[in-house]
Amino acid sequence: LVSSRSDQAACCPILIKMRNGQEPFAAKHPSGERALIQRIRSRIGGKPFAGLTLGIGDDCALLKPKPGEQIAVTTDLSIAGRHFRLEWHPPEVVGHRTLARGLSDLAAMGARPLAAFLSLGLPRELTVPKGRQKAWVDRFFDGFGALARTHRTPLAGGDLAESLTAVADIVLVGAVPHGRALLRSGARAGDMIYVTGRLGGAAAGLTGLRKLAIGSGNRPGPPTLSSKMRGLLAAHLYPQPRIAQGLWLQRRGLASAAIDLSDGISTDLAHLCEESEVAAEIDASVLPVHPDATLEQALHGGEDYELLFTAPAKARIPSVIAGVTVSRIGRITRKHAGLPDLTIRTERGVEMLEPKGWEHFQ
Ligand SMILES: [Mg+2]
Repeated sequence: LVSSRSDQAACCPILIKMRNGQEPFAAKHPSGERALIQRIRSRIGGKPFAGLTLGIGDDCALLKPKPGEQIAVTTDLSIAGRHFRLEWHPPEVVGHRTLARGLSDLAAMGARPLAAFLSLGLPRELTVPKGRQKAWVDRFFDGFGALARTHRTPLAGGDLAESLTAVADIVLVGAVPHGRALLRSGARAGDMIYVTGRLGGAAAGLTGLRKLAIGSGNRPGPPTLSSKMRGLLAAHLYPQPRIAQGLWLQRRGLASAAIDLSDGISTDLAHLCEESEVAAEIDASVLPVHPDATLEQALHGGEDYELLFTAPAKARIPSVIAGVTVSRIGRITRKHAGLPDLTIRTERGVEMLEPKGWEHFQ
């Protein structure tokens, strides 16, 4: 058990729970768990954070929202073989994306991050250095820590376990002024629909990564990427959660509803319409399709982690929010029995937009 207060120099340690009757991993491997925790602390350690009173050292972390704030909580599970591939994704990328998924959900609610909690299940070989290379887990925390610092999100606790499959379960806790959270349920007929950034880049990047992996004979070990290829793949490998844009919308009170684009616009817009009990029409000619992506990838490819939001037609939405472009892509309409909820206008006219984004258990 490692303990520390966040107001001391070394903060953001990771909490290790040992269950009754379980032989501590560290006892069997003196260089194992304890050393691993020290390494994690040295990578994620940093300055004290305003929203975190007690990072670790007790049974729970203590968070300190400002008076009048509500707590926003989100959890995301990442499993090797489902959400990432050990042979395709460099460990820094897996760390970055694990945190980005959670932060994106906070962004969609207009919440500011207070703290992250991370539980990792790892095969033992991922915790030990590979020849002269750093251990997989150290590189995971390099990627995780860089994004955590960008968004001032302390790692305030978690759990570690040896596991057959690599699994990362992230919990993000955020704060939002009471009654001000951006919800999926607030869209009304006549509202305009907006998205941040560009769409389809993550799907196009994944296609590129798959080709790279197959081109290299799918051999074990992540491919070494050239800087040009890294640029092409950036949208997939390093999605940027739109925390600043979500906070901007929340503070201005301009958005009627919001959701983050994790599963693809056709699926996520359908969720928003369902919660708001409305329909939507989008215009293909104004969709901000990523230059390396197809329209199909922009509509149905997931993991762009951009924000989709609605606002009344009279609301003045700028074309750039906190450095990221914002595009108006359609409008909310009334729901009609017997008519599709999602439609898209193309040069062929108006047709139904089927949700074809990512869905588990399908
Ligand atoms: Mg979400």
